[in-house]
Amino acid sequence: PAMEAEALPVISGLGLKRDSPPSLPPPAPATTFSGRVSSSSSDDKGNSSPSSVEVSVVCSGKCKVHGVDNIGTVPAALMTYLALSELRDPRVDLVISAGTAGGFAARGAAIGDVFCATAFANHDRRIPLAKFDDYGTWRSDAHPAPRMAAALGLKSGPVSTGNSLDWHDLDMASMSSGGAAVKDMEASGVAWACSLHGVPLLALKSVTDIVDGGKPAEEEFLANLATASEALHVALRGALEFVAGKGVDE
Ligand code: SAH
Repeated sequence: PAMEAEALPVISGLGLKRDSPPSLPPPAPATTFSGRVSSSSSDDKGNSSPSSVEVSVVCSGKCKVHGVDNIGTVPAALMTYLALSELRDPRVDLVISAGTAGGFAARGAAIGDVFCATAFANHDRRIPLAKFDDYGTWRSDAHPAPRMAAALGLKSGPVSTGNSLDWHDLDMASMSSGGAAVKDMEASGVAWACSLHGVPLLALKSVTDIVDGGKPAEEEFLANLATASEALHVALRGALEFVAGKGVDE
């Protein structure tokens, strides 16, 4: 997550501990948390066995100039790259980009829904030069997780990323043509860093505001942040329990 407000219900709910010092060394501004999440999974014959998964939560920390959380694609890509270089014992099997997002009512999104990403793209990197247009959009697929989404009752759809909380007509044209279900400010940066390291990526995005609802995102965002962060916590716990004891392709 970019913002600590989004991360705190997850951290306390999962019983994770703050790493001191952080697991990503300075000058990276990260705050990190870690621990084990357990679940009891059952096999085909209904035998249940306890399994657990080791979890590291990486937040992008605060801006030392402006004092606010470091949000957007640049901190997200940097923290992901560093986490995948630094966390090697054990190696990271799976990244989950977890946070809040604007949702498209036209794609079935409502406040507090958690979406499991099917794909990533940028809607604010317009480069009308041969080959650079696709580079700018940088469309990629999420690691497919249809059974997890179904088991947890999550909605699914493409995430579109840009470095602004608001949007204008050219952003909207790009989001519409890509079929975006949710709009955030980090997922594409995380996706790029994961692709460099060859590590699979899922994203869970909890809806704080409705992009196509006519209200300013910042008002709805603040009013719904607590609800959406709690929904994110529930989904993330479910996701971690679902993946515990399974291979990534399961
Ligand atoms: N004004 C807020 C900052 C909001 S930034 C504050 O005072 O802290 C919003 C964060 O939530 C970003 O990290 C982004 O990924 C996500 N987000 C929520 N709704 C969004 C939307 N409609 N568009 C883009 N990002 C959104």
